[in-house]
Amino acid sequence: MHFGTSLAGLESLVPSGAELTRLWTGGTWTEGPVWIAERSAVRWSDIPGDRILEYSVASGESSVYAEGVEFTNGRILDLDRAVIQCSHGLRRVELDAGGEVTALVDRFEGRRLNSPNDVVVSKDGSVWFTDPTYGIINANEGHLGSQEYGGCFVFRFDRSSGELTAVITDMEQPNGLAFNPDESTLYVSDSSAAHHNIRAYPVSGTEIGPGRVFAEIESGASDGFRVDTEGNLWTSSADAILVFDPDGTRLGRIPIPEAISNLCFGGADGRDLFITATTSLYHLPTLARDASTLWRS
Ligand code: MG
Repeated sequence: MHFGTSLAGLESLVPSGAELTRLWTGGTWTEGPVWIAERSAVRWSDIPGDRILEYSVASGESSVYAEGVEFTNGRILDLDRAVIQCSHGLRRVELDAGGEVTALVDRFEGRRLNSPNDVVVSKDGSVWFTDPTYGIINANEGHLGSQEYGGCFVFRFDRSSGELTAVITDMEQPNGLAFNPDESTLYVSDSSAAHHNIRAYPVSGTEIGPGRVFAEIESGASDGFRVDTEGNLWTSSADAILVFDPDGTRLGRIPIPEAISNLCFGGADGRDLFITATTSLYHLPTLARDASTLWRS
C-alpha cells in the first residue's frame, strides 16, 4: 500500500513515499507485538488462535513460535531482555526466558486477576500492566470466568519484593499503556464502550496522581500504543494509526486496511513500525524510535 507523498502532518515522522507492507496474514485477532533484537524478529499473539508467532527479518518468513499458550496478549522486554507477557487463560503475567515460561504474578490480595492485557517495564525494572475483563468474558480469548477482586485495575508489580500495588482504579477497561520518555507520565487507554480515550496520569516514583483525558479516539478504540523518543504517542484505532504530540494535539493519521490492535517499534535501527491489525502483521518504515529503547540499547 503506497501513501504517495508524505502523510499530512507526519512529514518529520514518516519518510516521504513510505510504503505499508503486509508481512503476514492468517490470524483471527492479532495483538501484543514486541521486537526481539537477538532474534531479529517481531513476536506477536494470535489470541483466538491460541498461538504465538514470529516474523524473522532475516528470512522474511513468519513461523509459529508456540501453540497452546493460554491466550497470550501484550508483551514487552524486561531489563534482561527476557519477554514478559500477559496470559488471559492463566489470568497472570508471565516470563518467557528463552522458551521457559514461568509465572510472575497472578493474584491481587489473594484473589485472581481478571485477564492481564498489556504490559510495560519501567527503568527500575518494575512491571506495570492493565487488567480488563476481555479474557474472561469472551470465550474465544480465554476461559469464561468471574471477576474476583471487583475491579479492572492498572497494577505495578515489584519483582524484587513480590508486592503488587493497584495504581489506577478509576478506569472501566484499561487496555494499552506506555510511559512518556522521562517516565513522569503513564498513558493508559480505556477501551470500554463508554470511553474510548487515552488518559495521562502523573507519576512520581511509585506514586500515581489523578488522571486526565489526553486524547479522545473517534474511530473505534485505542487498544495498544507506543511513545517515541520525542514523546509522540502512536496509537491504534479502528481504521488508522493516530499520532499525538505530547500536548495531545493530533499530528496526523496513517490509514491501515484492517482494524488495528497494537504496534511496536523495532528493526535494525529501531525505526521500523510493526502493526498487528485483526488478521495480519504490517510494516511501515518511520523516522521515529521507541522511547523505551533508550534504556534498553
Ligand atoms: Mg490490548
